[in-house]
Amino acid sequence: MSGATAPAGLLEGVLASINLGAVVLDGAHRVALWNDWMRRHAGAPAAGVLGRDLFELYPALRGQRVHSAVEQALRNGFGSLLSQSLNKAPFPLFADAQAAARGERLQQAVEITPLALAGAGRHCLIQISDVSVAVARERLLREQAMVLRSQTFADGLTGIANRRHFDVAMEREQRRAKRGGSALSLLMIDIDNFKSYNDHYGHQQGDQCLIQVAAALAAVLKRPCDLMARYGGEEFAMILPDTDAAQAVLMAEGVRLRTIELAIAHVPGMHREACVTVSVGIATQPAGAALDAAALIGAADRALYLAKRCGRNRVESQPPL
Ligand code: GH3
Ligand code: MG
Ligand code: MG
Repeated sequence: MSGATAPAGLLEGVLASINLGAVVLDGAHRVALWNDWMRRHAGAPAAGVLGRDLFELYPALRGQRVHSAVEQALRNGFGSLLSQSLNKAPFPLFADAQAAARGERLQQAVEITPLALAGAGRHCLIQISDVSVAVARERLLREQAMVLRSQTFADGLTGIANRRHFDVAMEREQRRAKRGGSALSLLMIDIDNFKSYNDHYGHQQGDQCLIQVAAALAAVLKRPCDLMARYGGEEFAMILPDTDAAQAVLMAEGVRLRTIELAIAHVPGMHREACVTVSVGIATQPAGAALDAAALIGAADRALYLAKRCGRNRVESQPPL
């Protein structure tokens, strides 16, 4: 130091105040320093640990990363920073007595540094910082990212897959069908005369009708590879991998009948049936055919238009062009 001398007890004061565990080991792993932070979080006073082998105090650390890092520092003079992802809480350190009773350790970042002390051989310094807050924040961010991700693929009203999810799934299933040489069917489902339902019962009841139909039709699908999405306003789409034209007709009929079973009253006089119905357009990409998503969607759309023109509450198919 230049000129001014440090006041007595400065180093001890600093060591007792820093918000960090500081432990110094001699060449035989004996504790030469144990600061106040360690006393508070380990529940062990310095008097009880000074001069004792750290790995006798904490036998569970033997053979672990901390042990080899201490050896590295003492034998080879290399320091190390123990990765958070490998061992989040190597030392039994706790925020307080309640956390200790629950066995909830502090999340730790551990840094081990060799110390060359003149005349006393090589020692090493272990610094332990509490990273519980950072770890909890990271977990929260990860969870929020997952929720956001699932929301961007779900329709806000009905909770089923949205248009974006449909587009991604359609591309994926098309590629899979081509690769596997399997058939792929697409159903386009549209609620009949829904504008008059909405106009008569109001938008809120219209929403309830959409929610009910979406839930009932989604439950018609039994295989995990099938996907039902809300394609637009009152229009839904079903992607049915490995499903040929005949099987697709059966599915579409199932969808039409399931909607009638819901027995949601439609507007009297405005609709041929007493209840809410759907029309379904089917398109099938035969096994081994090399089509694109647009061709399949176009064909299902034409089939749906045909079903509407032929009187609604019907199922029609059209070949992809
Ligand atoms: P079609 O049988 O030919 O399909 O006749 P439609 O009346 O069902 O068809 P159109 O396309 O004329 O009207 C669709 C209506 O669907 C328009 C709108 O009132 C209603 N709609 C679309 N999206 C929603 C929604 O999110 N909530 C509600 N409540 N209604 C919607
Ligand atoms: Mg409609
Ligand atoms: Mg429509």
